[in-house]
Amino acid sequence: MNNQKSEFQIRPFPDFSWSLSRHALLSECPRAYYYHYYASHNGWLKDTPEQTRKVYVLKNITNIYLLLGSLIHERAKDVVNSIVNKRPPPSLENLAKITRDELRNAVRESRDKDAFYRSPKYRCMLHEYYYGEGITEEKGERIIERMESCLKNLLECELIKELPNVDTSCIKAVDKLDSINLNGIKVYCAPDLVLLTPQVCKIIDWKTGKDSEENEEDEAWQVKVYAKCAKEKFKLNETLEIKADLVYLENGTMDERVITAKDIKDVEGFINDSIESMRGYVEDKEFNKAKVKENFPLADKEDVCYSCNFIEICKV
Ligand code: SF4
Repeated sequence: MNNQKSEFQIRPFPDFSWSLSRHALLSECPRAYYYHYYASHNGWLKDTPEQTRKVYVLKNITNIYLLLGSLIHERAKDVVNSIVNKRPPPSLENLAKITRDELRNAVRESRDKDAFYRSPKYRCMLHEYYYGEGITEEKGERIIERMESCLKNLLECELIKELPNVDTSCIKAVDKLDSINLNGIKVYCAPDLVLLTPQVCKIIDWKTGKDSEENEEDEAWQVKVYAKCAKEKFKLNETLEIKADLVYLENGTMDERVITAKDIKDVEGFINDSIESMRGYVEDKEFNKAKVKENFPLADKEDVCYSCNFIEICKV
């Protein structure tokens, strides 16, 4: 059998891989996980069944907070890349203008559901418009305020100020989706910035949400996953210190953590357990063929449904 897969080959089932976001969706709602990772597969094909197309379209909905987070990450990448290329970073005014224009464009596109249905991969649809009345003026002002605070604190943070003095060969990853192989499974991670010197491996994670107790556990696993990936990717020496800086851009604070050898061992166990649990939802492990929909329970907390992309097909 030829195991080589062409990029354009149509596959009846999706590839299996692991990521923290996949784990989070399964923990939140197995039914939403089913829609996102299985039922939407091949929904991009021209002659796909209407039902699959619908799931795929819904999968591509985002919301204003997720969009803001990804735009701020793009700006952080622009700032870091300017510094790496020995250019002055863009001004706050410039960064804010680009982001404001992109937010306005997202709102404009979200008013046209038909166009989104035709090109869900290339147009934006905000949950607030698809399922609701849109974004009120008051909420819009809060979003713009948050955006401006994040960009201001990004340019003023010590890490960015010190970056021109760092040898560019130490800057190893700038917001790039990467993967490692763990027991034959592709494990994805995308650290925002990794600085590697002979003394330390420093992982930087820009946060655009609030520093809250609610997110503590997820954030703790997230930096350990990044550390595990960095360890494998850069073949880090056992004794090299690994640190993670979580930079909360909205209020300009930073949380520095040291990642120990035990943390790395723990995260391997965490990923393996999570993979095992995901594998419990497939009927054919070799082809990653999912069990039928009814095997994926609905969320046990109703408030999760409020922000779900799949309400339209689930709550009927
Ligand atoms: S609407 Fe609720 S139960 Fe249905 S998929 Fe979404 S989160 Fe799960």
